[in-house]
Amino acid sequence: MINLVLFGPPGAGKGTQAERLVEKYKLVHLSTGDIFRRNIKGETELGKLAQTYMNAGNLVPDEVTIKMLESEVDAHPEANGFIFDGFPRTEPQAIALDKFLEAKGQNINLMIALTVNDEELKRRLLKRAESSGRADDADPSVIENRIAVYKKETAPVAGYYRKQHKLEEVDGIGSIDDISERIYAAIDRHV
Ligand code: ADP
Repeated sequence: MINLVLFGPPGAGKGTQAERLVEKYKLVHLSTGDIFRRNIKGETELGKLAQTYMNAGNLVPDEVTIKMLESEVDAHPEANGFIFDGFPRTEPQAIALDKFLEAKGQNINLMIALTVNDEELKRRLLKRAESSGRADDADPSVIENRIAVYKKETAPVAGYYRKQHKLEEVDGIGSIDDISERIYAAIDRHV
């Protein structure tokens, strides 16, 4: 069982790298952003609730997000392990995840934090907006807010894992292949 948290600001490349990690380590990829977007598309109650927060670039409330994430984990009893992408994004989410996994006799092995500077993030998100159809990518003021929310509410979560000696920071600038190699090396050091 390998449980990884893939961490980093919006536009850091978590989704791209997650796809490769799924292949290599045969893990189940849980992206809270993707799950919310599926719910918005399907016009579910959860989707309706999440949409206003997401379009403004704010976080969906912890209670809702934690419950959703836990039911997604429970829906994959066959998994070799998980890549948590976009979760935990607040310290209460991190604490909830630890408790939830502990009750199953599992834990987080490693947080991989991709580091990318703000200018590069904004450039990537505006470029992604051309094809993603995501309202939160298309508006520069929403992008600014997402980066601000990241710094205030999410970045501290890295400290939570650092204290547990589970944090590996990986330079997220370079070719996709180079960044993957850096991540594989970080995983090999821990797992
Ligand atoms: P990005 O990393 O590009 O910001 P995501 O797809 O991970 O995109 O998330 C998009 C939006 O979904 C966030 O801005 C937020 O509104 C919501 N969201 C995703 N994950 C969480 C979470 N763990 N807690 C609260 N809100 C979340």
